[in-house]
Amino acid sequence: MSLEERARRSRLLAAAAAKTAACRLCAIGSERRNNVYGEGDPCARLMIVGEGPGETEDLLGRPFVGRAGQLLERMLGAIDLAREDVYICNTVKCRPTSPSPRGPKNRAPEPGEMANCRPYLDEQIDIIRPSAILALGAPAAKSFLGREFAIGKMRGIWYEGPLGIPLIATYHPAYLLRQTGGELEGVKRLVWSDLKAVRTKLAELGKPAPPGPPEQVGLF
Ligand code: URA
Repeated sequence: MSLEERARRSRLLAAAAAKTAACRLCAIGSERRNNVYGEGDPCARLMIVGEGPGETEDLLGRPFVGRAGQLLERMLGAIDLAREDVYICNTVKCRPTSPSPRGPKNRAPEPGEMANCRPYLDEQIDIIRPSAILALGAPAAKSFLGREFAIGKMRGIWYEGPLGIPLIATYHPAYLLRQTGGELEGVKRLVWSDLKAVRTKLAELGKPAPPGPPEQVGLF
């Protein structure tokens, strides 16, 4: 990608991020500390879409910078991608919270919040035009593929996403962090298979095939 094109996309993303930061369509727009628009390579071939910012993301204004983010980076590393190689964002740009005695606690974004934020996500996809989209977790996958999406049965399959871009879903890293023992090994195996599908798709779509790690689980 030329330097001019990279600069053009960066400008468009900065303008879109400013528009998003001014949005108050949902109550969470007034409750959050920072708008978490997204970050990464404006010319990324892979776009990763998570659910919504958590506490650390809200504090820093950056997506996937907490424990789930650290695991995501290890998952990407397993297919030879660095965080800087991809573009990372969420279905909603503001942290969804519900009140609790110990202060606001994370919750899943509501369908109305995802719908309000969708034009911002679509604009992001349109600017970046990735070769493939990886949706993390059922809420992100549902936002693209409909409410019937069942992660257990429908992950690891390529679908036609926005603008006809190939889209695949896998388990959210936060879900992996909640598993232990045999369950964790089982879910890791499935995620590893999905990551390999991403690596194969990116190679098919034009980039020279990266060397790739050895065929074994437990790399992240
Ligand atoms: N979980 C998400 O879905 N997104 C983030 O940015 C962080 C954690």
